[in-house]
Amino acid sequence: MKYSRRHGITVERPVSFWIEKERLNSRIVDCLTVILRTKGCSWRKCLMCGFSREFAEEAGEKELKKQLDYALSHKKPDVLKIFTSGSFFDNREVPVEFRKYTYRKIEELGISKLIVESRPEYVFNCDCLNMNFDVEVGIGLETSNDFIRENCVNKGFKFSDYVKAAEFLTKNSINVRTYLLLKPPFLSEKEAIYDCLKSIEMCEKYSNTISINPVYVPKKTYLEKLWKAKLYRPPWLWSVIEVLRRSVKITESDIICDPVGAGSNRASHNCGACDKPVAKAIKDFSLYQDVGILEDLSCECIDMWEKYKEYEHIARFDFVSYYLK
Ligand SMILES: [Zn+2]
Repeated sequence: MKYSRRHGITVERPVSFWIEKERLNSRIVDCLTVILRTKGCSWRKCLMCGFSREFAEEAGEKELKKQLDYALSHKKPDVLKIFTSGSFFDNREVPVEFRKYTYRKIEELGISKLIVESRPEYVFNCDCLNMNFDVEVGIGLETSNDFIRENCVNKGFKFSDYVKAAEFLTKNSINVRTYLLLKPPFLSEKEAIYDCLKSIEMCEKYSNTISINPVYVPKKTYLEKLWKAKLYRPPWLWSVIEVLRRSVKITESDIICDPVGAGSNRASHNCGACDKPVAKAIKDFSLYQDVGILEDLSCECIDMWEKYKEYEHIARFDFVSYYLK
C-alpha cells in the first residue's frame, strides 16, 4: 500500500464513498458517491472549503484508477457520483486517461448516469459527449450575485462564466446541476434567504437540477475562525424549509438539498428538538419533489427563528438594497 508522506494517508483509497438514494428520471435508485483523493483543486481559495486539505500530490492516473476500482468493488450502482476536491475536467487534477478509464468502466458495468463537478473554466474540457450513459455536471455557482461570490466566498469567477459553461453543456445534451450556498458568511439569515431565492430565479433556465447547500463549517477554514469567534451561525433549518417551499413557485427544475451534518452546531440547525424530523423532511422532499412533505412541520422554535431574522435585520444597515439588487 502506498502512503502519502505529507499526510500519512494512502493515495490508493478514496477519501470516502457511500451508497445513497438518488432520483433518476422520476425513479428512486441506488447512487454510489465516491470522493476521490486527487492532486487537489487548482483554485483552493474559497473561504469555506474543507476539501482543500484532502489532496495528495502523488495521486496520478494509476492511483485514481485504484481508488475508483476499490469503491466500485463494493457496489454496482445505477448512478455514479464522482467528486474530487476540485474539478473533474481539470486535466492537472484528473488526468485525461483516468477520465477515459472511468467512462469505459461505466459502460462495462451498465451504470445509467454519471454525475461529476467542475468549475466553469474546465467544463470545456468535457470529454464525455455522446456516451451511452447520461451525464450531469455540477457547477458550484454558490450565488448569482457577483458581489457576494467574490467578497463572501472568494470563488474567482463571474455569473457570466457560469452561464457560458452551462450553455455549452446544454448544447451538448449534458445536464447541468447548479449548486447554491445557503448563507455564505457576512449575510444575515434574511439576506441569505433572499440571495438563495434570487439565485434560483437567475439560474433556473440554465439548470436541470438546483442543489441548495446550507453552509457547513469545516475545520481549518477561514469560516471556522468566524464561527469560533461567534461571528457566524450556520443557517436555521427553517430557512432551508422556507427556501424550498418558495422555490417550487419559481422553477420547475428539480430542487434538491442534503443538509450535511444537520443538527450539529457546525451545520444547519434549529433548536435541537426538531432538527431530525425537519432534516428528514428536507431529504424526502429532495427525493420525491413533493412540497406537501414540507407542510406539517412545526416546533416552538419557529417563533425564535422569526424573531432572530427580524432583530438581526434591524441591527444591520440595508444590505439587501445596497448589494442584492
Ligand atoms: Zn425546534
